[in-house]
Amino acid sequence: MQRALQVLQHTFGYSEFRLNQADIVQALLDGKDVLALMPTGGGKSLCYQIPALVLDGVGVVISPLIALMQDQVDALNQLGIKAAFLNSTLEYEQVRQIESDLISGDLDILYIAPERLVNPQCVNLLSQVKISLFAIDEAHCVSQWGHDFRPDYQQLSFLSHQFPTVPKIALTATADERTRQEIINQLDLHNGVTFVNSFDRPNIRYAINEGQNGREQLWRFIEENHGNDAGIVYCLSRKKVESTAEWLSKKGRVALPYHAGLNADERQTNQQRFLREQGIIIVATIAFGMGIDKPDVRFVGHLSLPKSIEAYYQETGRAGRDGRPSSAWMAYGLQDVITLRQMMQQSHAAETFKLVSQQKLDSMLGLCELISCRRQALLSYFGEESAEPCGNCDNCLTPPETWNATEAAQKALSCVYRSGQRFGVAYVVDILLGKSDPRIEKNQHDQLSTFGLGQELAVAEWRSLFRQLIALGFLYVDHESYGAIKLTEKSRPILRGEESLNARKSIKAEKTKSTKAKKKQVASIHQPLFDTLRALRKELADTQGLPPYVIFHDATLVQMVETRPSQLSEMQYISGVGERKLAQYGEDFLKVIKQFPLPDIVNSNFSDTVNDTLVLVSEELSVAQIAEARELAESTVYGHLAQAIEAGVLDPLEVLTINDDDYQLICQTLDTFTDETQGQLKQVYEALGEEFDYGVIKCVAAAEPN
Ligand SMILES: [Zn+2]
Repeated sequence: MQRALQVLQHTFGYSEFRLNQADIVQALLDGKDVLALMPTGGGKSLCYQIPALVLDGVGVVISPLIALMQDQVDALNQLGIKAAFLNSTLEYEQVRQIESDLISGDLDILYIAPERLVNPQCVNLLSQVKISLFAIDEAHCVSQWGHDFRPDYQQLSFLSHQFPTVPKIALTATADERTRQEIINQLDLHNGVTFVNSFDRPNIRYAINEGQNGREQLWRFIEENHGNDAGIVYCLSRKKVESTAEWLSKKGRVALPYHAGLNADERQTNQQRFLREQGIIIVATIAFGMGIDKPDVRFVGHLSLPKSIEAYYQETGRAGRDGRPSSAWMAYGLQDVITLRQMMQQSHAAETFKLVSQQKLDSMLGLCELISCRRQALLSYFGEESAEPCGNCDNCLTPPETWNATEAAQKALSCVYRSGQRFGVAYVVDILLGKSDPRIEKNQHDQLSTFGLGQELAVAEWRSLFRQLIALGFLYVDHESYGAIKLTEKSRPILRGEESLNARKSIKAEKTKSTKAKKKQVASIHQPLFDTLRALRKELADTQGLPPYVIFHDATLVQMVETRPSQLSEMQYISGVGERKLAQYGEDFLKVIKQFPLPDIVNSNFSDTVNDTLVLVSEELSVAQIAEARELAESTVYGHLAQAIEAGVLDPLEVLTINDDDYQLICQTLDTFTDETQGQLKQVYEALGEEFDYGVIKCVAAAEPN
């Protein structure tokens, strides 16, 4: 284990193991089989890479993600690790070379696609070499219930017979209890140890919005929160992918489409640009993402509803793998619910499969309509209880308003019933609103007792209520009768008045504004250096044909600008800087850091926001100008100044627009009101005839502590 820690620190540049990485590594070193459930960004790959380096022989990693192998191998080579991959993208000569390296023991880690591994020739090859471990990545692909099912994965049980003494580790970032059991059965891990890490991704802010006009909402969200950031936007259909990418491009962002209908070259190009350039938005069907290991995706948007919570968790999980603040944003409306419900009924899958899919969709819809903390619900779906609401989801940040919708629901349900359960939502809403319509008249539905009974609500409010009634299972959409909505068993207690219903108020789009994050990766004082380091990283990456994050993650750059190391011996303590990268890139980055000295006034004891104010002070801006530039209240700016004055780094007379006499006057007045419990500042303020700003008095008081 000592050796494992050394590899972690010297080769990978991390000071300590995270989550239960250490226990997993230990189990493998002890020769045990392991099932590890880890959230994305939890450091999954270190769990097998480190034992593969410590143990004798080559570690064989089975991964369905062919597109990703090149990047993984590049990243390992950057660390000085001998890694290679075998998959269908290689030329014959390359395969020969890798096989000969393998036989001569020149490889530490070999990535291999499952379809190749199960081929007898490959088994024969592997039985000639010493294997340290098998790592089966994305292990949930064995599950035929899952959306990523890979039949080849079900053959992997042969590893146990063929290589009985080699430890196996199966890894996945998403698996409910059923899938977990399937993995254990299919991969024969019965005698292994299971490690379940928290599925929480605290750095991701979840938000789910209702509304028909998803695209406009999406744009507002991107503009306000992620002006220059890389992100992924998911849509259900190819057509919507194309039109959304085009629309975002017109808005001035670089947005590229990705779906199965594009030719392979175009898909490849768009994916490469997304990985290698900064700030690109990829608009995709769910075909995209499996195998995207880009750590600095800052947001994932959904313009359509995922089919299950697993899919939602997995897709949103592509944001913020580097652990830095990121967003998962979604808009959905009535039509999404109806479309998905219909798609499931239409499917030709076996009944049990349909039933499971239906339940999964119900859970997803429940998450959308939830009025309490989304993260708690998400985690509890994966069997994890969390005591406190998270404070970092839309429902925590702006609790939704609810209303007692029992009576309205009764009207809605009874109107569905009375009109014969033969019509869609729009028609039923028209009856409730008492609209004159030839169809309604022909059906004599203007004679119903519910005709015009619902005029207290607007069309949008009725649609919102119907969406919730369908989502929550009080109504269902019958595909067989052309999308007619029908009552369910669940609706009876509501109709009989035995149960009440609290519904979400439909919110105006403006409301989402309050969650405006305005988050930048670094404080403004660090921005110029950060930008320059990013440019350097891009340049180094481009010359080697690598994605920038293979050189250093954003998190590593952020730590560099915040700590500003001045020599290599300091830089080696930065997380993500291992020996090889220090030797290869250290000097280049130090050189740039030296070009951006911080002004003396900036003090490491102050918070970033105080420092940002002080930088502007050093540029001789007035309090009013600083307040305007930073969109802060003047009193806040005075508060920052007071801190700096109290610490002795600012001279009050230099920053305050008062003369010596006024200064003395304030000092004397302060001396006469020394009892701070009485609200000293207020007394002084009043005694001075309200002539000086509170902030000014505060600054003087900071300079002259009594
Ligand atoms: Zn929450």
